[in-house]
Amino acid sequence: MSTSDQETKLYVPSEAAVKAAHVSGMDAYRKLCDEADADYEGYWARLAREFVAWKQPFTQVLDESNAPFFKWFADGTLNVSYNCLDRNVEQGRGDKVAIIFEADDGKVTRVTYNELLTQTSQLANALRSMGVKKGDRVVIYMPMSVEGVVAMQACARIGATHSVVFGGFSAQSLRDRIEDAGAVMVITADEQMRGGKQLPLKAIVDEALSLGGCDTIRNVVVYQRTGGKVAWGARDKWLHDVVAGQAITCEPEWVEAEHPLFLLYTSGSTGKPKGVQHAGGGYLLHAALTTKWTFDLKPEDVFWCTADIGWVTGHTYIAYGPLANGGTQIVFEGVPTYPDAGRFWKMIQDHKVTIFYTAPTAIRSLIKAAESNADVHPREYDLSSLRLLGSVGEPINPAAWEWYHLNIGGGRCPIVDTFWQTETGGHMITPLPGATPLVPGSCTLPFPGIMAAVVDETGKDVPWGQGGILVVKKPWPSMIRTIWGDPERFKKSYYPADFQGKYYLAGDGAIRDAKTGYFTITGRIDDVLNVSGHRMGTMEIESALVSCTELVAEAAVVGRPDDTTGEAICAFVVLKRPRPTGEEARQIAKQLRDWVGKEIGPIAKPKDIRFGDNLPKTRSGKIMRRLLRSIAKGEQITQDTSTLENPAILDQLSQSN
Ligand code: ATP
Ligand code: MG
Repeated sequence: MSTSDQETKLYVPSEAAVKAAHVSGMDAYRKLCDEADADYEGYWARLAREFVAWKQPFTQVLDESNAPFFKWFADGTLNVSYNCLDRNVEQGRGDKVAIIFEADDGKVTRVTYNELLTQTSQLANALRSMGVKKGDRVVIYMPMSVEGVVAMQACARIGATHSVVFGGFSAQSLRDRIEDAGAVMVITADEQMRGGKQLPLKAIVDEALSLGGCDTIRNVVVYQRTGGKVAWGARDKWLHDVVAGQAITCEPEWVEAEHPLFLLYTSGSTGKPKGVQHAGGGYLLHAALTTKWTFDLKPEDVFWCTADIGWVTGHTYIAYGPLANGGTQIVFEGVPTYPDAGRFWKMIQDHKVTIFYTAPTAIRSLIKAAESNADVHPREYDLSSLRLLGSVGEPINPAAWEWYHLNIGGGRCPIVDTFWQTETGGHMITPLPGATPLVPGSCTLPFPGIMAAVVDETGKDVPWGQGGILVVKKPWPSMIRTIWGDPERFKKSYYPADFQGKYYLAGDGAIRDAKTGYFTITGRIDDVLNVSGHRMGTMEIESALVSCTELVAEAAVVGRPDDTTGEAICAFVVLKRPRPTGEEARQIAKQLRDWVGKEIGPIAKPKDIRFGDNLPKTRSGKIMRRLLRSIAKGEQITQDTSTLENPAILDQLSQSN
């Protein structure tokens, strides 16, 4: 986006919002950045003392002696569950509602901090009684539930390292993760409820364990969610049985700051999932800090992050960040389209949600739903409780941003477009709602203390206005510590020799606006196209297609080798109307080609446009462009598709119009 565009589209926070915010105004933002610039370690140490309760206070801050395996606060000890639960109870928030749980069928349960602490302590005691020790890995394969959050907190309480696997994964994917983590236990449920259907979980665990390679598993603990029939063996225990009679208090295991709190396998958009390892101290700091500043969380807020606990967003902004701040949050079991596509809007209305955080993929599909069925249009609901919106997971196209801002935010709520990764633990580049003027499609500026930059292949800064590679120049507290069991892959992936092993490589491309310095993510590095010598981000072409709001619901763009132009642009498009074929498809393709030509320039016109009912997505809702690249080239797909949500779509997209 050009400079003039950015300036005309600025959304400046209201005076009242600035006044009330934790980080109040751009001067406050700059002051924090200056503090970090002047004394990097001092800045993080100050915040670590403010935001985290330490058992043994740390004296060391950043240890770079074994770079890039950095350590933070290494001689300090703490317990993450103590920080999220006991601390709130001790400070008088025991009766405050921590979680408002809404089940798939609409049933609502409220859980206070006192109750959450009791449940966590009882499960922690039960895990200990079953021999789970500090450092053991526990796989959690649970539906969205209070019990899922309790399972994570209970592991943290006894120093066990959890690895949550999203409940939509197959037996094979689950098996691979159990084996890679060498887990001693699986915590699961009999079944889960999604969109009115009962879906198996325990049966998939049984199948996963029967595939071999999981001999480390001693027990499977099963939360009874539906009462559906399940097979039972000697190692299986009901959750309600193992916690029955357990003491309601549990002394936390005080662990070193670097002790691994969890492993989490990335969503696999770009390759084989990696077991990202996070350390409790630095991670908790950033979870607590970003929840407070980015979401400007206040005691009276009702916060709702719609992510699943199987993804990092559900870790940082459900299981840890809101609790570490003593907040009240929604945990939702179901899906956004059941009983109809107005479910999110109805829940915001019913629970008077003030802060709503979701993903572009959800927004795009709800736009499509709202435009085809007036009954589920957000204007049918009272969304006046909202004061802040957030977006995460993929770049949000300006057209979707505008819709979200107007239709959900009533034109009054700022949108924080938060760029971050499983590996970063928390927000990296994001607006702060009481400070940063917003530009649709830009994640704006680094979180204070995050040294993000855009460089060329040699690691040199590129001037603003010129695209390049996104890096982080200094280690930060919540960064990935290693890839579980594969330190070499960690080094190669994130601290490659290209930058002398000095910079963290995010794997995304970015451009900074020539005037404001705002960051826009242009897509994964391998998604940059070179057409007749012109370098273009796929994201820009996708946004142009999606801005044809009459026709297009979603679009993904990839390159394929071309004899004349070097690379040719291939676009996969989901329309707001049924998938066209034959002459109709050719006509719409021409119309879209001309549209892109007009929006960006003739050079960006896709050579090939294909229509699908959907796009190949990961189970976390991200478009898998690496598969589309193979389809565009006409190749057989031989890559890892274990995280693919909808395999049938590949055949459809392989047919040309
Ligand atoms: P894998 O690493 O296995 O390929 P993944 O990168 O999709 O999977 P995540 O850690 O869930 O796994 O996602 C991080 C990526 O999501 C970022 O690198 C970026 O490409 C994208 N992303 C997240 N938030 C934003 C955002 N606000 N704007 C643009 N891109 C975003
Ligand atoms: Mg990634």
